[in-house]
Amino acid sequence: MTVYANPGTDGAVVEFKSRYEHYIGGEWVAPVKGQYFENVTPITGQVFCEVARGTAEDIEAALDAAWAAAPAWGKTSVAERAGILNKIADRIEANLEKIAVAESWDNGKAVRETLNADIPLAADHFRYFASAIRAQEGSLSQIDEDTVAYHYHEPLGVVGQIIPWNFPILMAVWKLAPALATGNAVVLKPAEQTPASIMVLIDLIGDLLPPGVINIVNGFGLEAGKPLASNKRIRKIAFTGETTTGRLIMQYASENIIPITLELGGKSPNIFFEDVAAQDDAFWDKAQEGFTMFALNQGEVCTCPSRALIQESIADRFLDAVVARTQKIVQGNPLDTDTMMGAQASNDQLEKILSYLDIGKQEGAEVLTGGGRAELDGDLAGGFYVQPTIFKGSNNMRIFQEEIFGPVVSATTFNDYDDALTIANDTLYGLGAGVWSRNGNTAYRAGREIQAGRVWVNNYHAYPAHAAFGGYKSSGIGRENHLMMLDHYQQTKNLLVSYTENKQ
Ligand code: NAD
Repeated sequence: MTVYANPGTDGAVVEFKSRYEHYIGGEWVAPVKGQYFENVTPITGQVFCEVARGTAEDIEAALDAAWAAAPAWGKTSVAERAGILNKIADRIEANLEKIAVAESWDNGKAVRETLNADIPLAADHFRYFASAIRAQEGSLSQIDEDTVAYHYHEPLGVVGQIIPWNFPILMAVWKLAPALATGNAVVLKPAEQTPASIMVLIDLIGDLLPPGVINIVNGFGLEAGKPLASNKRIRKIAFTGETTTGRLIMQYASENIIPITLELGGKSPNIFFEDVAAQDDAFWDKAQEGFTMFALNQGEVCTCPSRALIQESIADRFLDAVVARTQKIVQGNPLDTDTMMGAQASNDQLEKILSYLDIGKQEGAEVLTGGGRAELDGDLAGGFYVQPTIFKGSNNMRIFQEEIFGPVVSATTFNDYDDALTIANDTLYGLGAGVWSRNGNTAYRAGREIQAGRVWVNNYHAYPAHAAFGGYKSSGIGRENHLMMLDHYQQTKNLLVSYTENKQ
């Protein structure tokens, strides 16, 4: 199927195959059991391709390929690996529009985001880890005059990676780039809701890597994900997804005593102190924009600022302003560059969000704007669209405590700093948070006291490769991005050497 968009230059075209196989050992490989599943675009709700439905047998084949490739790949020089990662980045940039349109079509997100954020960030991620691995050094300790301890970084070998559907390409790249940079071979399972755009990417970059270094097995969680995550032949499992699934991944990993990184759910507080309204200036405007970030990527972001905490003294004025701003969010065809909010990634997700809209209303939360399905015309009528919604209520409501993963923000008020921090930390999660204040001391203190792995101060939803990202509490274990990721994909070899012949 051919999908067109006009993102502002020549118009982008992506040719989807009608069927995607697994990518194993550098080749497209049919599933052992011969089964396929249908893949739908959330933009129209129509099936546009079918995809290999992986099982344990396909995972074993992918692991065979990865094991065959890992020893040689692990021994390549860092300069060689970095060179390949940079070539992958070049290839992504050269095909930016094609990949951006593929990602929008498969996931439903607005092409202006995939063009300006998801795909450029993916290219940059490869460049960052190409540089990081070249700058990495080992260490040497002198134990005594004749004895030296060397510390080397070694790859883990073959690693498993499982990703969700909200940023299919970026989540894949967050995992692939550090794993490849450190010399590991990978078996990755995409989410069953968004399998196609990753295959478009692999089609473009696959030839740059030795066969077997990257293997992609598509399929469902229990059928393909579990046989991967519980496999004795992986040396690490990296997972991004729901907290409940993360718990299972930990159990599987415990059987094989392998390291895990888990990037899980969130219910991020976004705190607006009263001084943001001190003047009607650019900062006041910026803070409002920070609030409306709840609708970015249709709210399908693990760090979605889904709880807004507003100081009582400015609450009416602030909420009036952000309601007006939210009502200006342009919803429409995600392939149109004017569209700001696209479709939810799947019909299941649409229904989950609509059920939370009902729950919020039943709990007595006030709907300030939105509150239902967005009805679009023509081909889009079958797509999965939700109105950006602002609820006002209190932090003990389910819509404040449970992850909705949609364009829904639950707003509440606070009296003073301590009140704000109590509400902010009253959650199972600890992934992201936002703090907005003109007072540097307040912002700094709040930033340090919020129990979350990433606190944005006077900005939100920036994801540079060189800032560590990950969760406190039930939001996960380990970090992604930043050069500390290298440790998550390496083990330390200590060589303790005596340079004397005559004493112990
Ligand atoms: P999910 O846990 O349902 O699925 C994620 C992946 O795990 C999919 O590929 C799925 O097939 C697979 N899977 C499901 N059950 C499995 C099992 N038993 N064994 C192995 N694999 C299994 O999550 P989702 O609904 O796809 O994604 C949304 C969630 O991801 C949200 O909770 C969101 O907050 C989280 N998320 C977190 C981050 C982060 O960095 N912290 C980033 C993006 C999304």
